This record gives sequence, structure tokens and C-alpha cells, in this order.
Amino acid sequence: MRDARHDILFEPLQIGPVTTKNRFYQVPHCTGMGWQSPKKLAAMRGLKAEGGWGVVCTEYCSVHPTSDDSAYPLATLWDTQDIKAQALMTERVHEHGALAGVELWLGGGFVANFGTRIPPLGLQDRPLTNPSVLHPVQCRRIDKDDIRDLRRWHAEAAKRAVTAGFDIVYVYANHGYLLSQFLSAETNERTDEYGGSQENRTRIVRELIEETREAVGGEIAVATRFSIDPSDSETYDALGLLAEYPDLWDLTVSDYDIEMGVSRFVKEGAMVDAVAQAKSLTGKPVVAVGRFTSADTMAATIRSGAQDLIGAARPSIADPFLPNKIDEGRSDEIRECIGCNICYAHNSIGVPIRCTQNPTMGEEWRLGWHPERVASAETKERILVIGAGPAGLEAARVLGERGHDVMLAEGERVPGGRVTRESKLPGLSEWARVRDWRMGQIEKLPNVALYPESRLNAEETLGLEADHILVATGARWATDGIGRHRNSALECSEPTAVISADTVIDKLPLPDGRVMIFDDDHYYMGPVLALALRKRGHDVILVTPAGRAGAWGSYTEEIFASNAALIEAGVEIQTNQVLEFFGKGRAICSCLFSGKVRESSADLMIPLTRRIPDDKLFMSLSSDAGRLSESGVGSVRRIGDCEAPGTIAAAVHAGYRAAMELGSSATLTETFGRREHPVL
Ligand code: ADP
Ligand code: SF4
Repeated sequence: MRDARHDILFEPLQIGPVTTKNRFYQVPHCTGMGWQSPKKLAAMRGLKAEGGWGVVCTEYCSVHPTSDDSAYPLATLWDTQDIKAQALMTERVHEHGALAGVELWLGGGFVANFGTRIPPLGLQDRPLTNPSVLHPVQCRRIDKDDIRDLRRWHAEAAKRAVTAGFDIVYVYANHGYLLSQFLSAETNERTDEYGGSQENRTRIVRELIEETREAVGGEIAVATRFSIDPSDSETYDALGLLAEYPDLWDLTVSDYDIEMGVSRFVKEGAMVDAVAQAKSLTGKPVVAVGRFTSADTMAATIRSGAQDLIGAARPSIADPFLPNKIDEGRSDEIRECIGCNICYAHNSIGVPIRCTQNPTMGEEWRLGWHPERVASAETKERILVIGAGPAGLEAARVLGERGHDVMLAEGERVPGGRVTRESKLPGLSEWARVRDWRMGQIEKLPNVALYPESRLNAEETLGLEADHILVATGARWATDGIGRHRNSALECSEPTAVISADTVIDKLPLPDGRVMIFDDDHYYMGPVLALALRKRGHDVILVTPAGRAGAWGSYTEEIFASNAALIEAGVEIQTNQVLEFFGKGRAICSCLFSGKVRESSADLMIPLTRRIPDDKLFMSLSSDAGRLSESGVGSVRRIGDCEAPGTIAAAVHAGYRAAMELGSSATLTETFGRREHPVL
């Protein structure tokens, strides 16, 4: 039964000529699938509608080949083939009574048009306005004819959107793309009716809203995605000028690091105040995101009048069934997003998104996975899962839901493995949700028993009479320095001063002194450990062979905030350096390019270079087939970090995969799943 306090989230709302059944609105978000993968996309978006989202939108959808963000997978509405592809999605969304929205998109001077090889159409003669890409590409300054063309292309795409079955069509006026270049006084140097005054700079947005409405014949709603900047009143003035033109405002703030911030730096509902101020300027409904995962916060936000709809990208990825769970009074079952941005990172890499919390994300069509349903096992067996980190917890949960009898043995008192340990590091507290959600589910399964403080050896393992064994014993940070940039062990004259990263993660005592972290891992661990050590009073030098600290954070969108935090905390950063020697208070690094050596003083060394699987138990079990069969064990498999150390998302995926494959002859290493082939 739904909690009456959440009723407000289920009130219908009129958006221009259409009505959404509730206040859950999946805003446009990237998927790493794009126009090449319509079936994957349709299945994934359809599942969100099945999970109760009232509105489900596409990602950015190019109106014309002059807006081409290749090699990022983007959506397109260029021709009749695209209409067919998009119709797959709208049909799946409509099957569940949801509205389908399409985010028509003009890339402007932000994108390189690498696929179509047409010079990008921007507002200035200049390199691309996206500072994250350094491609040697300049855009062409558009003239009046171009503006006429752009408006026509947008209107034609809007008509195709109607044919494809969309209910809401966007005019996309932010995120650095063409329309935001018009809106900004910095990038808009035009002296005609499209530049200069605020009114002139908003003109093209107004025209596009009006022309889109005309193109869609009043049948579907016109939304506008727009950014406000709390420190720039001009952005509110611009909104004020356009206030009543669209049927819906999809609002966010100009600082993408806040909108898309990782939980290390940005918490739930970070934009509510800025959005509330903007909402007071318009009588039209407003949707805004805020990585909302708490039903109480969502209901309170709507009740406060700050916004009318709860926008979500990440919370809908982590839990496509979030609305239904609230509706059914099962808020405690929401698989809460942890704000790690692994989803976004993989879109940035150009592959289908994935999710740390939801291993089925992106696998709905390829592998036929469903976030809420798993097929019952044909034969119920007795399964032993060893290790209750993300991989073991997920495997035990899914095996339990499939009906097996599951014993989950964990060496520590508290389950969770690396997420329990890492979530105590600065900024990572939300990561414990990976453990907490799984434990919550497991506790409801009478056929899954957790045995804490049970560190098993091979003898004990075989004595438990399991039909199958999954070994999920994780991995540990190595201290030898071998990694991406070193093929051989670090030369070291003082091995006792080389400390494992695990020592810091576990908050074990460290000798005093200046610590050097040699970060050849490049993800969050280097910066996070540096900040943890600063808090403990150490002087810290972070040395990296990359050009920036925590360089992989450029994919997760945390690199700027992360580097700012390091600088603020007084961490010394040395880039493009490879560690060569350490001992007796000094470290010698060499320049990655010139080989020139540089000496620094350091009392302790933490190499963040590779993790070594904790696979002794697996090796011992799997190396003696005779003993296994004598003990009645049908199979032994290692999963997660014990197989190949990787992200938490990879470990959760491995746990889910192993649980689905148990008892089936087809393993993923043999079947890749379905692929979308080009039509021949
Ligand atoms: P993953 O990310 O692959 O899930 P983790 O390192 O997070 O791996 O978790 C591994 C878990 O396995 C840890 O909680 C650790 O305590 C546990 N573990 C390791 N060896 C054993 C063992 N022999 N018996 C029981 N638990 C073990
Ligand atoms: Fe949230 Fe991380 Fe999943 Fe993205 S990958 S939806 S940030 S939990």
C-alpha cells in the first residue's frame, strides 16, 4: 500500500496538450547506444515505462547531419529509417501508459561532425567550444541563411517526431550546444537581431519553440531544456523573457559539475533552490533533476512548489522500477543510485551505459535481463558463495531469487567487501548503498543464509556439501609497482616503507612522514587516498604518469572537482612522471617524455598500480578435480575481483551473470548475447 505522504507524486499533470499520469519524469539522458542500437534502446526505455515512469525521453537527438557528435553514440531523426527506429522506442513506452519525449538537438560549435565531415556550424570562428575535447577542428561562423536552414531542419525533425509517435518534443537550449551559444553574451557576438540585447539573444529559442509547435500541429507538447546560473541574474532574465512560450520547462543549473556531480561532491536535491527561484518566473510546469532517490524528499520537493515533476536520469538507471516501488509502498526496496557516474563514463567512452547498482542496465535486449525478474532455476541446488563483497552479495541475492539454497560465507564481521571498506573514505559514504540494498533483499529470502566471520579454507569449503561453489574473495592492492607504466618491480632500498593502499583504506596506523602516492590507477582511489592522508596530517605528493591527477575522472565528470579538492587540501601533484626508485627518504621519478629524472623527498610510498586477485582458495579448489567430485561439487567458478580486478560495477555484473548462468550450459564467454546487425 502506498504511503499517503507520497500521493502527490502520483497526481496527473497536464503538459500542454498531453497529460502525464504521474510526476516521475525520465529526462533525456545519454545511453551510449544511439542510432546504431534501436532495439537495445527501445528495450531499455520500455523498461523504465514498465517501472512506472510517467514520461520517458530519448537522449540528444540530432535533427540534421550538421549536428553529429560521432564517435559518441547519439540519437538521430534525419530520415524515415530513423523514424522507424524511434518508433520502436515510443511503442514500448506507450505500452505502459507513459509519454515519450524526444530531445531534438542542434550541436553547434560544440561537436566535431566527425561522422558527416561537415564543418560544424557555430556562432564564432573558433575551435570547438567543448573544452574537454582537443580535436583540431574549428567551426564555421553561421550566417542568416544558416539560421534559416537550422530552423527549417528543426521543424522538419519535429514533424518526423510526430510520425515516430512522440508526445513531447524538446527545444534543447543548454549544455553548451548551439542554442546556449546564442543565449550567452560571451559567445554571441552577433550584431543583428540574434545578438546584442537579451531579447535578441533569446530570439532563436523563441522562434524554435513557436515553429516546433506549428510543425507538430498542436498535437504534442513542446518542452525547453534550459540552464540557470544562480550567480548570474541574466540567465533568470532570459528565462523570464521566454517564460510562457513552451509547455514545459526542463531546468537545470549551468554548472554541469553540479547537475551531473558525483556523490563525492554533490548530494541529493542540490539544485532545488535555484530551480524554485526560476519556477517563480513562469506559469508553466517545471521538471528538474537532483539525483533524487528518497520518496520523502521527492514528495516534499513537489509539495514545496519548487518544481512540478521529479526529473531523473541516474535514479532511473539505478532503479527503473523506482516509481512502482513508491506506488506499492516498497520505498525501502529502491535501488538507490550511489552517484559514481559509471553510467555516464561509459557513454563518454562510446559503449552502452552500465550501472554499479543495476547490472541489468544496458543488458535488457542483449541478454534479456530484467531488473526485477529472474527465471526460477529448473533444479534447486545447494550453492556456496564465498565472499560477501559486491560480486558475492549480488550472486547470492540472484541465486536466492531463483530459488536455490544459498550459503554466503564471509570472513569479516560486516559484509560488503570493498564497498564497506571504501565507503569510509572521504566522500564515498553513498557507496555503502551497494551493500545495503543487497543485504536488504537477502534478508527477505529465507533460502539465503549469511555466515559472517567465516573465513573458509579448502577443507572447510568441501565439507559444506555444496553442489556448486562461487568464489568471490576479491583482490588486494599490490606493492610491487607493476602496472600500466611499469613492467617490472619497483627498485626499492626500503621495502618496509612501501605501504599497501589497503592499509590506508582500512585506517591502519601509519608511521609519520611525507607520503608519495604513485597513481598509475588513474581513477578515484589516488585522489581519495591523498585527501584521506591529508586529513590524517601527512604531507602528500601524488605522482601520476598521466597529464592530470585522477585522469579517468574525465569520463565520470569528477576530474575538475577532484583536482580542485586536491589543490585546496595542499596535495602536491606531479604529472607525466613514472616512479623509478624509492628508499631512505627519497623517490626518483622519470619524465614520461624525456626520461629526465626528478628527485623528491618521501618517507612512505603507496603504489596504486595493480590489484592482485585473492584467488588462493579458488586455485586450491579447482586444481584438484578428483577431490571436488568426491565431495559432490559440480562446479567451482571465480567471479568479480577474484577473477579480474575491476570496477564495483563489473563485480556486481559478474555476480549477476554467474547467478543467471548457473545450471545453464551457455556462459557469456561462449555466447555474447544478441547483436544488432546493420540491415543488408
Ligand atoms: P568483489 O569486489 O569481487 O566482490 P571484494 O574484495 O569486495 O570483492 O570482496 C571479497 C570479500 O571476500 C571480502 O569481504 C573478504 O573478506 C571475503 N573473503 C576473502 N577470502 C575469504 C574466504 N576465504 N572466506 C570467506 N570470505 C572471504
Ligand atoms: Fe548511479 Fe552509479 Fe548507477 Fe550511474 S552507475 S546510475 S551514478 S549508481
